[in-house]
Amino acid sequence: MKQRLISIIIPSYNEGNNVKLIHESLKKEFQTIHYDYEIFYINDGSADDTLQQIKELAARNHRVKYISFSRNFGKEAAILAGFEHVQGEAVIVMDADLQHPTHLLKDFIQGYEEGYDQVIAQRNRKGDSPVRSVLSSLYYKFINKAVEVDLSDGVGDFRLLSRQAVDALLKLSEGNRFSKGLFCWIGFDQKIVFYENVERQNGTSKWSFSNLFNYGMDGVVSFNNKPLRVCFFTGILILLLSMVYIVTTFIHILTHGVSVPGYFTIISAVLFLGGIQLLSLGIIGEYIGRIYYETKKRPHYLIKEANITYGEQNETNYTKKRKWNH
Ligand code: UDP
Ligand code: MG
Repeated sequence: MKQRLISIIIPSYNEGNNVKLIHESLKKEFQTIHYDYEIFYINDGSADDTLQQIKELAARNHRVKYISFSRNFGKEAAILAGFEHVQGEAVIVMDADLQHPTHLLKDFIQGYEEGYDQVIAQRNRKGDSPVRSVLSSLYYKFINKAVEVDLSDGVGDFRLLSRQAVDALLKLSEGNRFSKGLFCWIGFDQKIVFYENVERQNGTSKWSFSNLFNYGMDGVVSFNNKPLRVCFFTGILILLLSMVYIVTTFIHILTHGVSVPGYFTIISAVLFLGGIQLLSLGIIGEYIGRIYYETKKRPHYLIKEANITYGEQNETNYTKKRKWNH
């Protein structure tokens, strides 16, 4: 009987020092797991020897598959490429930097066998810088009030997804992918597995504060149009207040005549309204920007090379799904 297959997707960007370590760790883990596995690296345009390291692994082990992008397309695109090409009946997404402990795989698979479509790892924030922890927890408090999906602090891409969940994700074709939100949006039965945060061993995190800020903004505007509505209601409120102000001032002028030249009030009104307008324009701009990128319908990534075979004979068309060989 053919053994059941689990696929592990590992987006890798400048992880030359880590790909072999994570490979060894996974290999060891699977010695006690009764599934076959494929380790699917996505080299996201690394500038170091990541691809070389992956190729060396692939030459020695047929379970190692890889796709190498033509440039850095970002982790979201890498994960999507993985989903589009893996063959397993369940798929695990994990980072290359050993921050995602491989011993959780057993818990993932146990959850999967219990019938869950998503088994999600949730970490605590041990070892994170205090500023990042505080900002993150504030962000999650805010975002959960604002968006339609329920996002939890400490939950990331590290999870197992059933084939059904992966197929559902592949139906969401948006260009601006905010995986955390998409994972929640598809629903299905979910189980949470908790783990202690691990600090990165080699290399550095690719997340600067400005990256995190942009990522946070993606989270807010990808999943709802409430910010637009807030602008609308703030606009109405300000309009009403200014009308009350204008009418009362006008009556005052009629009854008492012009008294003090209203320098202060004019300046504050101009500044306040200017601020509100710019803020609203900015929010509208965020959405329009997204529409702009969506209408281009560009591919999410381009593949330079890979060691997998495709269902489609056309060699340039790498985005076509791999042929199922069962
Ligand atoms: N990554 C990627 N493309 C990028 C940035 C990151 O494929 O443009 C990968 C990276 O190699 C790692 C994972 O995404 O395997 C998580 O990245 P990182 O450790 O920098 O993020 P953090 O753990 O700090 O959130
Ligand atoms: Mg990391």
